[in-house]
Amino acid sequence: MCATSAETRILVIDDEETMRDSCTQVLTKEGYRVEVASDGRTGLSKTQEMALDLALVDLKMPGMGGMEILEAIREMDPTIVPIVITGYATVTSAVEAMKRGAYDFLPKPFTPDELRLVVKRGLEKRRLEQETAALRAEKERMKRNFVTLVSHELRSPLVAVEQYLAVLGEGILDEEPAKQKKVLSRVRERVKELLTLVHEWLDISRIEAGRIVEKFEPLDLGTVLVEAAERMRGLAEPGRITIEISVPDGPGTMEGDREALNHLFGNLIGNAIKYNREEGRVHIRLEEDENDFVATVSDTGVGIPPEGLPFIFDEFFRVKTRETRKLTGSGLGLSLVKKIVEAHKGRIKVSSELGQGTTFTVILPKHLS
Ligand code: ADP
Repeated sequence: MCATSAETRILVIDDEETMRDSCTQVLTKEGYRVEVASDGRTGLSKTQEMALDLALVDLKMPGMGGMEILEAIREMDPTIVPIVITGYATVTSAVEAMKRGAYDFLPKPFTPDELRLVVKRGLEKRRLEQETAALRAEKERMKRNFVTLVSHELRSPLVAVEQYLAVLGEGILDEEPAKQKKVLSRVRERVKELLTLVHEWLDISRIEAGRIVEKFEPLDLGTVLVEAAERMRGLAEPGRITIEISVPDGPGTMEGDREALNHLFGNLIGNAIKYNREEGRVHIRLEEDENDFVATVSDTGVGIPPEGLPFIFDEFFRVKTRETRKLTGSGLGLSLVKKIVEAHKGRIKVSSELGQGTTFTVILPKHLS
């Protein structure tokens, strides 16, 4: 991809030395890397060597003609932007060249400004095409991965449930009700896990379909935070984890989807409890300025290794360390959190220190426009 002009490679194929020199002079000044060829054959062999972005081709040359060169370039690499230089500004030759894949044409004589403009436009078109192609490929990859990942994630709890049920069905534990009960409670745990996965998955598709935006209303974010924390309090009890919450008095309102925001903060607080240590702390804080609310959820838990941080919001990503291996989860929670934040035109950041704790910071604009 031609991200900066310094990496951009242009080839000028023209039999006139003055034309080659002046193009080189103008385009080098723009920061492009320019090579020249005085005939078609040399031009094509340079095209093969150079990983070109754009080619300027004179239509009228002795030996191999411009049209033939255009076709050969297109065959070699259809992403190269071909621009023809036409000796006489005849409409027919320009049209013919465009038909054969030229992106634009420059009638001789042209000014340095005209050259710069045509080249810039051609490169911009190439950049857009490449970006679209990259996005399309990324989407395809995600789609393929998603199906594989989902079936994989669904399969392991289902296999476990099937095995537990087989044990019960064989009657091996008929005389041991305590063990039976234990197996049944494992079955319930795994089924609960499956349900969470399916719910989160459905939420993701609901948000992806843009349906979250339908329910926007003015709301008090402080109350949403307090409610989310209350909902999660039960989770904190077994590990005797303290939840502290500081919300400013009478905070302003923001426009948002109450259910989605409750889900967002419930998820962050739930993780802060789940990945904490015994008798750890979770601190929830809300601050505001004129335009934004800033909510932070900090914990004193296991932390996230630095190499895991870039992937933390990816679907199905889970850190697998000694501390987290035994904890179940779908790895969908944070990807959902990020989508909810983005649907509110906000941003989310994470900072973490292994063994010390993690802080998630959510910045939400008060007004959407
Ligand atoms: P999960 O269902 O696994 O909890 P999430 O998408 O909510 O999925 O989180 C992805 C991963 O990020 C988790 O598996 C965990 O490794 C890590 N993680 C999330 N929140 C925290 C936290 N507060 N402290 C440490 N690790 C966390």
